[in-house]
Amino acid sequence: MMLQTDIAVIGAGPAGANAALAAARQGFSVMLLDEQPLPGGQVWRAKSTAILDAPATPEGDAGDRLRQSVKRSSVTYAGDARVWQIEPVEGAWQLHMLKGGRTAPLRARALVIATGAREFVQPVPGWTTPGVLGLAGATALFKQELALPGKRIIVSGTGPLVFYVAAEIRRLGGEVAAVVTPNSQGDWLRVLPAMLPRPDLLMRGARWIADLMASGVPIHWRHAVTRVEGGSRVRGVGFRKLAPDWSPIGTSQGLEGDSLCLGNGLIPAVEAAQLAGVALAYHPELGGWVPRHDEDGATDVPGVFICGDSAGIRGAAAAEIHGRLAGLCAAQHLGADTRKERKQLRPIHARAARFGTTMTALSIPRAGLAQLTTEETVICRCESLTRSAIAAEIAGGARSSNAVKSGLRAGMGACGGKFCQTTVARMIAAADGRAEADVPPPTPRPPLRPVPVSVLAGDFEYSDLPIPKPAPL
Ligand SMILES: Cc1cc2nc3c(=O)[nH]c(=O)nc-3n(C[C@H](O)[C@H](O)[C@H](O)COP(=O)(O)OP(=O)(O)OC[C@H]3O[C@@H](n4cnc5c(N)ncnc54)[C@H](O)[C@@H]3O)c2cc1C
Repeated sequence: MMLQTDIAVIGAGPAGANAALAAARQGFSVMLLDEQPLPGGQVWRAKSTAILDAPATPEGDAGDRLRQSVKRSSVTYAGDARVWQIEPVEGAWQLHMLKGGRTAPLRARALVIATGAREFVQPVPGWTTPGVLGLAGATALFKQELALPGKRIIVSGTGPLVFYVAAEIRRLGGEVAAVVTPNSQGDWLRVLPAMLPRPDLLMRGARWIADLMASGVPIHWRHAVTRVEGGSRVRGVGFRKLAPDWSPIGTSQGLEGDSLCLGNGLIPAVEAAQLAGVALAYHPELGGWVPRHDEDGATDVPGVFICGDSAGIRGAAAAEIHGRLAGLCAAQHLGADTRKERKQLRPIHARAARFGTTMTALSIPRAGLAQLTTEETVICRCESLTRSAIAAEIAGGARSSNAVKSGLRAGMGACGGKFCQTTVARMIAAADGRAEADVPPPTPRPPLRPVPVSVLAGDFEYSDLPIPKPAPL
């Protein structure tokens, strides 16, 4: 059965949920879709039913408020719904989603894309060892399951997330072996003025660092993990000092631990926007390739709007307001007059975005970090492709992300290129001395998320095949 709505919103994080609420308040029917069971997105992810009595956290409380708002509104929420295809059909947008083991089409007059971000991890030898997980990914484990990845955990990466993760591990009773961060104390001091408009967040971050120091947890500033030790399980890591461009210098030191949280910033999840035909532009300060959009989230494709981290990494506070702007813009597209409200929201969004992009600047890896990926380091985890295999393909003439993808299947596995795409593009750019802005991501192809072939086939029986009878001899 074909579902119909005025506005479909993909992603129920701070951006998408607020877009849906703002559009619904204008009197339109709105369907909000997310592959998670409940709204909240990454930052305000809902607890699983097994840990509902877990102590309150600022993220949990903000998520509960959002979930209540969605529940009380006229928005129709479809959880556990993975959108895997987007196509224009008869002047509307048709989405295909996998839900409850079946695929269902949904037709909408306007589309808001709020698919968030994915994590970037600079590959180092051994980063695929069991016990290594993404820094941002680890936060999902804490929030949803109240679980830790190990007992003695090494936490390594850029930006504020490294201190949040270390603080959460200690709050949940784990031991932080050490924090290893490419940022220097000077990097943090330089961004202090930009953080002053949000004293609450500034104080929270300062408390994380002060608590780690007071508890004797070593913090290795301007260092990076350069290899992971252990075969079937993490036993420890090697780490080195970094030069100002983050290339490794100095001798290698060792740390013992049974797990590692590792991450180097976030990258906008742009595939849904690409599938809807939105052109990309390169904005390194927003995390790399972002869909072209104006300040309210309107794209150059009529009826398609984008907001939150999928429009550029500006953080959760900005995502909320950006979502409202995009939802109002979608409502305007369908005939409402939302100009006054949007005008009031723009300066609020700009302020929140300034704070968010300051944190993004701290998180973005500098060029030297790429030197941590050695010849034998696996880059594409799904297809087990090493740096040397990808380098050979590039040297053999593959000069675009599409060419490496079709030659080696890098990015064709279950993750759809989330782990390898950025590293591959940077290798192509470096090999030719080109700018990263000259190497766009591969052409997007459905499915956006894995879909079982049995689901696509539906109730099809072999005997249903209309096989023509053989012609008489
Ligand atoms: C793994 C991860 C953990 C993070 N943890 C933190 C944190 O602890 N603290 C912090 O300050 N910031 C964190 N961030 C950054 C934070 O997510 C953002 O700043 C903020 O949540 C952005 O809000 P958003 O609504 O744009 O995106 P998100 O909150 O990421 O929401 C996007 C939503 O889209 C859904 N989605 C994406 N594609 C599809 C699809 N095809 N079909 C259906 N649903 C889809 C996702 O399930 C998700 O719920 C994290 C980011 C990531 C990637």
